Amino acid sequence: MKTTALIVAAGRGTRAGGDLPKQWRTVAGQRVADHTIAAFATHPGIDDVLLVIHPDDEARVPAGIPHVHGGATRAASVRAGLEALAGTGIDRVLIHDVARPCVSRRLISAVLAALDTHTGAAPGLMLSDALWVAAPAHDSDGNGGTIIRDVRDRRALVRAQTPQGFHFDAILAAHRAHTGDDAAADDAEIARTAGIDVLITQGEEDNLKITTPADFTRAERILRGQMDIRLGNGYDVHRFGPGDRITLCGVDIPHDRGLLGHSDADVGMHAITDALYGALADGDIGRHFPPSEPRWKGADSRVFLEHACARVRHRGYRISNIDCTLVCEVPRIGPYAGAMQQALAGIMGISAGQISIKATTSERLGFTGREEGIAALATAALIRP
Ligand code: MG
Repeated sequence: MKTTALIVAAGRGTRAGGDLPKQWRTVAGQRVADHTIAAFATHPGIDDVLLVIHPDDEARVPAGIPHVHGGATRAASVRAGLEALAGTGIDRVLIHDVARPCVSRRLISAVLAALDTHTGAAPGLMLSDALWVAAPAHDSDGNGGTIIRDVRDRRALVRAQTPQGFHFDAILAAHRAHTGDDAAADDAEIARTAGIDVLITQGEEDNLKITTPADFTRAERILRGQMDIRLGNGYDVHRFGPGDRITLCGVDIPHDRGLLGHSDADVGMHAITDALYGALADGDIGRHFPPSEPRWKGADSRVFLEHACARVRHRGYRISNIDCTLVCEVPRIGPYAGAMQQALAGIMGISAGQISIKATTSERLGFTGREEGIAALATAALIRP
């Protein structure tokens, strides 16, 4: 069973304000089209995405996303997409407006599930507001305005949304047979004209179509609410040994002993690095830099931290904040905390204000209390918009 999402992005709509067509404007950290593509590309029930664009937007298409040029109307653009898919062996297609970037995984799943039993399915929302038919006022004083001429029974009316899903051969045939008004509202209408029953699945208020400037504000709020936040923790211990200095969170501190370890034994930086790997569910320092490999002997721990930060960026996250606690009786950490924040900020590419360095003793209890070593705990918070 092969399912393709056909995302219609050929419009020139600038009613939402700005000079750019709305699908290429930024909302919640990414362009509208990027949000919409991601919603389908990351859905487990979707195999491929095909974007239908205006020829002028060729340079705006994200790298690696298959695309075709649309036509003068929405129906012509959908037809172009369907024709491009003809003969590629796909079974089902979901046709979606690019201007609905807040589409949820649940809503997509519901349309897909409905296609197991129906040839067509599309999300709809029952109306809760009363419906009026408006007409220009015929005010003898010439005051103008609009008045209510009639009311409609809303109970049988449903607001149409996308994605609208179909068995591929059926919707392709329906579009090829479509000779009506090219401004036809949507694919469900074209399908219905061809005699296809379209099951209505549950739509969502948040699946709005961005049309006005106010819609951008609302979409921003919804997409920020869908933001992915991940937390990780890290814990590390190193034993004191002979030496005259220790390295903690990237800062050299003169001391009457050193810390033992395969690398430079920067226990604080190790805990922070493991917190980042932990947030990504991506193992730990030992997995990425095995102590069995001699090349990491005496290594500067910034190599580990830089590696973890690169993995964070590669996965599309950014670091929101780091909190690290060093547990030791000696040395005193307070005088160095500011320098540690600066050193870590430089390595991680974030600001010092996003990094907290705290210290505590363990009241002379346990191995840290007996000054046998230093322990460090760290928490990392990652955000992907
Ligand atoms: Mg360590």
